[in-house]
Amino acid sequence: MVNISPICAFQDNYIWLLENNKHAVVIDPGQAAPVEQVLAERGLILTDILITHHHYDHTGGVQALVENWPQAKVYAPADEPLPCSTAVALNDGDTLTLSELGLSFTVMKVPGHTLGHIAFYTANETEPAHPPLLFCGDTLFSGGCGRLFEGTPQQMYDSLQRFSTLPDATQVYCTHEYTQANLAFGYAVEPSNKALQKHIQTVAKCRQQGIATLPSTIGLEKAINVFLRSDLTNVKASVQAHAGDPLPENIQVFAALRRWKDDF
Ligand SMILES: [Zn+2]
Repeated sequence: MVNISPICAFQDNYIWLLENNKHAVVIDPGQAAPVEQVLAERGLILTDILITHHHYDHTGGVQALVENWPQAKVYAPADEPLPCSTAVALNDGDTLTLSELGLSFTVMKVPGHTLGHIAFYTANETEPAHPPLLFCGDTLFSGGCGRLFEGTPQQMYDSLQRFSTLPDATQVYCTHEYTQANLAFGYAVEPSNKALQKHIQTVAKCRQQGIATLPSTIGLEKAINVFLRSDLTNVKASVQAHAGDPLPENIQVFAALRRWKDDF
């Protein structure tokens, strides 16, 4: 059985560690030292490194990890600079089989935060008691979405739409602990959302105890994340009122919502 746990890095990054039978896979190791510490503590062998996008806080540890674990394979987006010379480039629709874990991921290209950003999804069918898994990098956050550093609002909107078609039970592993601030923004947009009000309380308790608010689920995000709810009448009305403009197209609402969050 695959065990998944967060390794904290920098201020608020999570490097996700997947382990099974003493084999380990890490996703987006921005730093090597905290990964090496956990591998040593648990006596794990690093077999694979998965990268969602080229930002340094997701790739900064790759070089040092492959020097220490030369047999570890590195997988990264085909449409971005590779994090090391031996990295395998992945495209939308590719299948990535991690035999030591007994998991096969489908690669989803989800541009917006960066242009070549990819996510890793598995229906997790080899473990029927376990839910599907999504490792989404900086595209989707609990209660929010990534900033548009390279892509357009339309690209991010389409990427989030793809995520929203995944099963509600899908466990969502985001790479930053931004949930509390995101929910505060969501509440400003949609104060009457009962599920959001309830989740704000749950997240506040987690953070008081220093517990990660992740993983989330697709079902929860559809209920509490305004960036997955921008087509709803009440969210549109709120964004239009804030923008002071009529926004007849769904994509205009989404773009204005993202700009609102940038300044929030
Ligand atoms: Zn990023």
